[in-house]
Amino acid sequence: MKGEQYLLLPGPTPVPDRVARAMNRAMINHRGPEFQEILVSVTEGVKKVYGTESKLLIYPSSGTGAMEAAVVNFLSPGDNVLAVSIGVFGDRFAQIAEEFGAQVEKMDFPWGEAADPEKIKERLEQDKNHKIKAVLLTHNETSTGVSNDVKAIKEAAGDHPALFIVDAVSGLSVVELKMDEWGIDVVVSGSQKAFMMPPGLSFLGFNNKAMTAYENNSNCKFYWDIGVGLEYLEKGQNPFTPAISLYYGLEEALKMMFEEGLEEILQRHNNYRRMVRAAIREMGLKTLAADGCASPALTSVIAPEGIGANKIRKMMQEEFDIVLAGGQKTLDDVIFRLGHLGYVRQLDLISVLAGLETVLFKAGYHIELGSGVKKAQEFLIDMHE
Ligand SMILES: *Cc1c(COP(=O)(O)O)cnc(C)c1O
Repeated sequence: MKGEQYLLLPGPTPVPDRVARAMNRAMINHRGPEFQEILVSVTEGVKKVYGTESKLLIYPSSGTGAMEAAVVNFLSPGDNVLAVSIGVFGDRFAQIAEEFGAQVEKMDFPWGEAADPEKIKERLEQDKNHKIKAVLLTHNETSTGVSNDVKAIKEAAGDHPALFIVDAVSGLSVVELKMDEWGIDVVVSGSQKAFMMPPGLSFLGFNNKAMTAYENNSNCKFYWDIGVGLEYLEKGQNPFTPAISLYYGLEEALKMMFEEGLEEILQRHNNYRRMVRAAIREMGLKTLAADGCASPALTSVIAPEGIGANKIRKMMQEEFDIVLAGGQKTLDDVIFRLGHLGYVRQLDLISVLAGLETVLFKAGYHIELGSGVKKAQEFLIDMHE
């Protein structure tokens, strides 16, 4: 029997029934009072998740759209930018900035490791004349399953005036991020990761310091222009036709998030991280990221010798409808990525671990069936004691 895809991807993530049903409603006038009420309420809701009282705009795009919005509104051609990269998404941010004329200096760290705050500190200390206008940073690097310590990196930057622009598309509400408290100037996020939503909405939060950069900005922009966005937000509207159905869904998803509690959501994901890693190790497999920087959003697992990661993924889908993500770029066929962010429950993870053991066994890998599952069950018992 073929069932629905059982998504354990680091985006798109499973959408709860409540959210799916909320979206199945008639269209309304996007320039009327009903839409205004929803827009005001979801903007406030997303700001709470960001930990900010600053400005926030919602775009009808995937996360990359808001990354581009951050670049064209806050970076001007010729600006020196330090782009810290620990994987595919860090590279993407650097590439967008370059495309729009910034002088990008890459600071790369090996894939599977986090950025070292000391190295960033050293580089910014060398920049005595403050030529570096912005630092681009990934909160949670989805391609490797590594989280950066954004708070430590911001602290290490000391009083260097560069704008801090953070891609938190897959990290927000999974890994702690307090925009205002930590002094992050711009934060980008998206709907299809921890927000338990379908793809299609992206978020851009920015503070007064970023607004000053915007006022002096000379980049080309039209659709992404935050000036126009803010002008319309005042009236409770979007400049252009918004993705109305997705707003219905976001309203419900935020309700669910606040019912669970933001602290509780962080804790749940952290438990998933520890539980999945313990089980994976018990199966004799290795994870790409070290414990100290491993992501609570997903776990990157190195496929065993002689069995490609893509073969495991294919078998998982064929046997169990379970969809895991592959490795990107140089990690293709080397790792598979097990997403555990958003609407993922304990039982989902137990099932995936059981499926994985079965598939590994069938592929000829020496494993004691039930060993990883047992470890996960023990973790759950300990956790609740
Ligand atoms: C998913 C993701 C993005 C955005 O990708 P889209 O496909 O445009 O939504 C950006 N950064 C990170 C870290 C991501 O995980």
